[in-house]
Amino acid sequence: MLADKYDKVRRQISHACRDCGRAPESVQLLAVSKTRNANEIRQLYACGQAAFGENYLQEALDKIDALQDLPLEWHFIGPIQSNKTRAIAERFDWVHSVDRLKIARRLSEQRPADRLPLNVCLQVNISSEASKSGCSVEELPELARAVDALPGLRLRGLMAIPAAATDPQQQRHTFAQVRTQLETLQSELPQLDTLSMGMSGDLEAAIAEGATLVRVGTALFGPRTYATPGADTPATPNA
Ligand SMILES: *Cc1c(COP(=O)(O)O)cnc(C)c1O
Repeated sequence: MLADKYDKVRRQISHACRDCGRAPESVQLLAVSKTRNANEIRQLYACGQAAFGENYLQEALDKIDALQDLPLEWHFIGPIQSNKTRAIAERFDWVHSVDRLKIARRLSEQRPADRLPLNVCLQVNISSEASKSGCSVEELPELARAVDALPGLRLRGLMAIPAAATDPQQQRHTFAQVRTQLETLQSELPQLDTLSMGMSGDLEAAIAEGATLVRVGTALFGPRTYATPGADTPATPNA
């Protein structure tokens, strides 16, 4: 079941890459496992998937603890409250949802010295985005410079959650705006290499516009049917 869905998503990514002349290896798949249990993550790991994304801290920590025996890479992709930064800095490999300097500073200070710097994407709110999180395009250059200077973090690129659109042209238009923002930043920070955009419903459009990482939940695990008990915050309308 899970294996079939996994193969299907992998094929979908390869086809999307082929259609726009990109190498399939240039797009990383992040399996979004919010509301899914540790056993489902184990099954997907057995299929070959090692990178998992989580939105709710407590739920994520329970799974990270339960799956310590596997060499998994954990990505935090949900809204970040400042009293939650320590556990994120200690337990995750990546954070995609940094949208203000205060949070970035705390993550940097709280990153354990014996671990590599925490990989960070800045979440940008391109107009008409579904999520209320994300910094504005105007704030982005200054935030990127400041975050890049923090020793506990390694700034990797941008993340966006556009409003769900069914029209592929509309999807591409929005993703192209995110890519343009990354390209602008790259003139000053050429080491930026990550464009985290595209979910189950729009990953082809995101890949056509340069996504290097797609965050996929529903297409891998099926629809999410229950709310997370004790969730930190009801996150985005997409969540
Ligand atoms: C839930 C979520 C996803 C996955 O969405 P699907 O439509 O289930 O693929 C991706 N990114 C973020 C930030 C999410 O909250």
